[in-house]
This record gives sequence, C-alpha cells and structure tokens, in this order.
Amino acid sequence: MTTIRLPGLVDVHVHMRQPGGEHKETWATGTAAALAGGIGTVLAMPNTSPAIVDEASLDVALRLAAGGARCDFGHYVGAGPDNAEAIATLAGRAVGLKMYLGQTFGDLRLDDISTWETHLEAWPEDGVIAVHAEGSTLKTIIELADSIGRSIHICHVAGADDIGHIAVAKERGVDITCEAAPHHLFLDRTTDLPPGRAEVRPRLGTPEDRRALWEHLDVIDCFATDHAPHTLEEKDGDDPPPGFPGVETMLPLLLTATHRGLLDLDDIVSRLHHRPVDMFGLPVDEDSWVEVDVDASYEIPTSGQSRSGWTPFAGMSVRGRVDRVAIRGEVAYEHGGVVAAAGTGRDVRREGSRRP
Ligand SMILES: [Zn+2]
Repeated sequence: MTTIRLPGLVDVHVHMRQPGGEHKETWATGTAAALAGGIGTVLAMPNTSPAIVDEASLDVALRLAAGGARCDFGHYVGAGPDNAEAIATLAGRAVGLKMYLGQTFGDLRLDDISTWETHLEAWPEDGVIAVHAEGSTLKTIIELADSIGRSIHICHVAGADDIGHIAVAKERGVDITCEAAPHHLFLDRTTDLPPGRAEVRPRLGTPEDRRALWEHLDVIDCFATDHAPHTLEEKDGDDPPPGFPGVETMLPLLLTATHRGLLDLDDIVSRLHHRPVDMFGLPVDEDSWVEVDVDASYEIPTSGQSRSGWTPFAGMSVRGRVDRVAIRGEVAYEHGGVVAAAGTGRDVRREGSRRP
C-alpha cells in the first residue's frame, strides 16, 4: 500500500443534467460520483434544459447546484445567437462562456461566424471562453480568436489532426489552451462497445488518434472528463444520445497510466489542479485534497455513484484507487463511501469575481 496525498482536483468539463435531465444525473448524484473519482471541484456546462443563456436560467442553475452539490462547483453560461452583450454581464458569476461550434446536440449550436466574433469580443478578456470545435471549425475559431487577440480554450481534443494543429498554433504563440478527455486517451474505435454505448462527441478516434494525444501530452493543459451521463436504456435505445459518464473513473485510469510510464504524478497534478486553478482563477484551499493508493489494483465495476448506472470502462483493470477526499477540511469521501451531504459544496464564484 502506497498512499499519496494530492491537492484538490478540478474537472473543468462536466454535465450535471439538472435542470431537465434528472433521470440521468443530478447535482447530488453527479458530485457523489465526482468525489468517488477523487474530484473536489466540478465546472458544469450550460446545455441543460432549459439551457443557461441568461440571468434567470443561471439563477435557477446555481440554486440547484448550491442545494445539491457535495463538492465545490462552478457553472458555465452558454453562447446563443443573440445574447453576447447580455451574457457577458454575468461573467463574474460564471466560470466561463461555452460556445458550441461543432456537431453537437441541443439548441446551443452556433453556425454564424459573425456571431462567434460578437461573443469573442463581448466576453471579458480575463474570462475563459471554452469552445467545442473540430476540424475546419477548429482552425477557423483559432484564427478568428488570434486575429481579435483573445484567448480561447478548446474542449475535448480527440483527433490527431486537431491536436497537431493546436501544437503548431501554440508554437506560433497563439493564446490557446486545450483539454483531453479520458475516453479519447484510453478508448478508441477498436474498443469493444455496443454501437449505442460508443456514441460520443467528438467520436472515439482511431488508435493513431489516441496515440497522437499521448505524444502531444505537453500540449494538453487539462484533463477533463466531459462527464455526460445518459441512462443505459437511452444508450441502448433507437436513438442513442452521445456521451459517457467519466468523472468516477478518470483518476484511476490516469494513475494506471503512470505505472505504464505514459505520464507521471506531476503531469496529473498540473492538469487537474495547477492549470485549471490558473486558467479559471479558482480559489485554493490547503485543506482540500485527495488521498490515493497508487498500488491498489482492481477492476472498474459496471456502475458506481452516477445515476446513469454504467461506464464504458467497465471491466478494465486499473492500478490506483481513490481512498479519501477532503473538501475545505471536511472528509467528503472515505473508503468507498460518500460522506458529504448534498448542499455542502461551495460555488467557486460565490464572491462574484475571479481570484486575483
Ligand atoms: Zn461536454
């Protein structure tokens, strides 16, 4: 047994499904899953139902989060076709603006380049703009942001071409950051999954895509799960929605990768703590931490704390287990049991502004 304590970890990309998708996940179940996965802070995406695109919907979302969260949290707001000026006034209460530019589901997709530009110019310069963009869309948004002179964050980079393009842009000095999701790092098209369950956006890549992500580890600023829970009934149904639960399994998978020499503990801590804290201006508490047994071996079970009740990683052998999580001095998870009550998590923007 080798127990190691890491600082409080942040997942900068989750979907908590509340309001509107409570049968898939709620703040109470999703943050229980986060704690079981060693995560102390989650940043939630705005494509709930209704979507978080104005003050009233943000009020509702933050009230639900404050009432249900067992770990600390922040919320993104969504870029719509005509809300650029109004949504920018809410920047102090949000962790970032999310722009859906690529293929995705829901009503937040933005197709009009002049709308992209309006949002890039309206959102405060020191705030995060997180974009879902792939392929030619990715190239266009990077060029556009660079020409305006503002930073953007690229969500869930999955393909060899995309990570290669980001690497070149970064080398040129373009101000961009990016994240990679565990399912793109540990699964690919050859993974044996039923077709509906394999649905995710961006899609699982080829083994070459997966290799390219690992080869460009230095280009990847954050690991983020894109925890997107759906029920098994939905995934195995006629019209399977894209997305995987992931918040519970990311850290064990990454710890396993350290044993394979793919990365080291510092690589994990920088991408799940230091970079997220810097990029999003998050509060840091010395008494928020996670203890892991880096030697414990086990098989990922078929389900865990997430209400979705399944995982695409079921049955994978991992080495590295989350033993205890503390949030601001209180033990929140211990040896398989969630201790923190719903509603004990704190909004990282509760003061209404970024950490200086
Ligand atoms: Zn997402």
